[in-house]
Amino acid sequence: MGSCDWTPLQAYVSNGSFPAVRNQLLEEWSIYNYIPERRETPADHFFKTFGKFSAAKDVDVRKMLQWTKDNAVGQNIAYMEVMLTGPKGPRFDASLEAQLLAVQEARNATAAAHLLGEVFQTVDAATWKDITDKYLAYGTRVLPPLYVFGGLAVSFMASQASPLVVGVNLVGAETDVTALRDFWLHMQMVRYLRQKYPAVRVALHAGEMTPDLAEPQDLTHHVKDSVTVAMAHRIGHGEDLPFEDDVEGTLKFMLKHGVALEVLLTSNEFVLPQSEGDRHSFPLYFAAGVPMVLSSDDPGILRTSQTEQFMTLAYKYDNVRYADIKAMVLNSIRYSFIKEPQLKARIYSKVQDDLAAFEAEWLSKKAPFYDMRKLLP
Ligand SMILES: [Zn+2]
Repeated sequence: MGSCDWTPLQAYVSNGSFPAVRNQLLEEWSIYNYIPERRETPADHFFKTFGKFSAAKDVDVRKMLQWTKDNAVGQNIAYMEVMLTGPKGPRFDASLEAQLLAVQEARNATAAAHLLGEVFQTVDAATWKDITDKYLAYGTRVLPPLYVFGGLAVSFMASQASPLVVGVNLVGAETDVTALRDFWLHMQMVRYLRQKYPAVRVALHAGEMTPDLAEPQDLTHHVKDSVTVAMAHRIGHGEDLPFEDDVEGTLKFMLKHGVALEVLLTSNEFVLPQSEGDRHSFPLYFAAGVPMVLSSDDPGILRTSQTEQFMTLAYKYDNVRYADIKAMVLNSIRYSFIKEPQLKARIYSKVQDDLAAFEAEWLSKKAPFYDMRKLLP
């Protein structure tokens, strides 16, 4: 597509058709006015948006980040881990792909580590330097295995070397055909890099699946493998847990090793509608006492906010008390990937102060419509 195919938005403003174009863009880029379509699941619609708005991202990334920051400040958010860049991995010898797939077929973890070690030797450490800005770097799980490894390897290198890249994630639809086929290999890749770079922090979306989106055997192990094999420090969604083997073992492992769950209520509602109601996995993690952080996932696409996550949690789960929500707020700093201990301590105590001020204000207030004191511990 040449640049001549682009029409500046200003042209639509001038000819009066901007409101309609705006609606159309919002429908393409988010869940705005979403109407289910045949042959496209809500998850398909959700994951397609990323490719559609990337052109806008390239126009003025500074402005976009500033908007994100202002929006966060308005919601009393003290710290953000922005996922901005999936660095392009290097090009590899294509014959390696067949070898990787063969190792996966045989489920040979030792051979996988050996082969990944060979591939790793060819990754140029300078590649990560073209990351424009910081934060959480990521690999994309729907790509062919060598691309996934390249993206992950470069992300680990970046996080190891730069104080601004606080960790690594693996993004994309977990129920994509390639992502499902190569899940085992992806876990070996993250494990390999975790061992190579023990200081690098990892968050993985894991178990972002429900029975309608994957086969029964796929639902039995993604959370478990993400924490035990890939050794992730945090996992996102975790929705397939009720269908997994050894639920208790996985929960115990998370507790013992302090693996936190990113609770993504609005995201699950849209992307995983089957997880609604009594099928939601939240009560399992909650009852087990797994550390949790409340997250908005992709607030722009989902047209939500951090504030809405608190409201949703409070309305949805009667047994979640103020003390639990407060713990989640503090967890979001405790389980953050901030590298500098002093900075982490400073943000943590700021959040504690904010919470104390909030409690003092509401305890002293005779709220006309609701007695907040009932909510406080
Ligand atoms: Zn997500």
